[in-house]
Amino acid sequence: MKAKTIRKERVNLITLGCSKNLVDSENIITQLKANDIPVTHEDDANQAEVIIVNTCGFIDLAKEESVNTILQYAAAKSRKEIKKLYVTGCLSQRYKDDLALEIPEVDAWFGTMDLPGLLARFNVDYRHELLGERKIATPMHYAYLKISEGCNRTCSFCAIPLMRGKHISRSIEDLVTEARSLARKGVREIMLIAQELTYYGLDLYKERRLADLLRALSEVEGIDWIRLHYAYPSKFPLDVLETMAQLPKVCNYLDMPLQHADDRVLERMRRQITRAETEELVGRAREIVPGIVMRTTLLVGFPGETEEEFEVLCDFVRRMRFERVGVFQYSHEEDTRAHSLADDVPAEVKVDRANRIMEIQRDISLEKNQSRVGTVEKVLIDKLEGGCYYGRSEGDSPEVDNEVVIEASAGYLRVGDFVHVEITSATEYDVYARPIQTDN
Ligand code: SF4
Repeated sequence: MKAKTIRKERVNLITLGCSKNLVDSENIITQLKANDIPVTHEDDANQAEVIIVNTCGFIDLAKEESVNTILQYAAAKSRKEIKKLYVTGCLSQRYKDDLALEIPEVDAWFGTMDLPGLLARFNVDYRHELLGERKIATPMHYAYLKISEGCNRTCSFCAIPLMRGKHISRSIEDLVTEARSLARKGVREIMLIAQELTYYGLDLYKERRLADLLRALSEVEGIDWIRLHYAYPSKFPLDVLETMAQLPKVCNYLDMPLQHADDRVLERMRRQITRAETEELVGRAREIVPGIVMRTTLLVGFPGETEEEFEVLCDFVRRMRFERVGVFQYSHEEDTRAHSLADDVPAEVKVDRANRIMEIQRDISLEKNQSRVGTVEKVLIDKLEGGCYYGRSEGDSPEVDNEVVIEASAGYLRVGDFVHVEITSATEYDVYARPIQTDN
């Protein structure tokens, strides 16, 4: 008698938050697919019977979005549109006991390190051998490579160590294996990500080994660009910059959140660095890697931040002239060290200060983009949309930085290819170009 095949329920996974959470979702998808469980990522066709929400718990706005997304699917479950709802990720790690009482429609809550527990709900085991075989949710020509988990820093405003635990580096061998597997799938650009990138190796090898990792990854055939995100300024390993200058595959690009520039605020934030040391580091980076594109993230409205301290930050942004700047407003996170301070900067002042920083940056970004007009740049084509190709230069990371816009009428280009273009015009946040030669 023919064995009755049990149809496996379709799963749809929703990812909220940062690129590190996206990699976690990709690992969940990889494990489920390897066990023949039909799974989609962010498919809004509502075909799925099981929903997994991978949440973010970083700051108020992110937590709100996560809770609203869970409630949306809790309602769908009450309407019997879906059968099961599972929640994982940072918000779940941090608040699952309270949330389980508030949202009983959720079938189970999992922490950030509990993939085996989630898989057990599908009666499948975690398969370690799949680690290097990650299915990516990004366009096929670029991918994130998470080189470590957790963070040992003690920035007073930050709840990430509460949700992600202590710093754990992955081995250089494992990361090279994963990069090779990504390259075999057609990935040409990898973004190295972590909670704190520059701490890489201190736990596993008892020394900083990010430069060694870059050298090893540069040997991987098929990978053309390696990009660094989430570097930490204090005790920054300068050999990383020297390696960046030496190795053509390592983009002359550095994302290094600095948060603030006033020494009193930096101290209250426990950032272990001063304004003078920060400026010296930025100066060294521009010396060692001429033309380096620097991205930073700043935090306004920290408890006690005076107008005078904020003006120090404004002056710093004017003087440092970063290529890329992002701003967060302080979020009063329980169980962080800063939570014992009064959250005394009014919400509207936080908004105003964030806008003032971005106003200063907009002018700088426009000047810097206009200085690219007439130059020739190598661009990776990301997509064709509305009659234009959108790509990125070595100085632009996906989702967060500028785009290079090319009229499709200028000729056929293939998504995932490198093209040399001439920059023809510029705005604050994008540049326009015409193709002069394809590289592939
Ligand atoms: S280094 Fe980053 S992740 Fe670590 S505590 Fe500081 S802000 Fe948080």
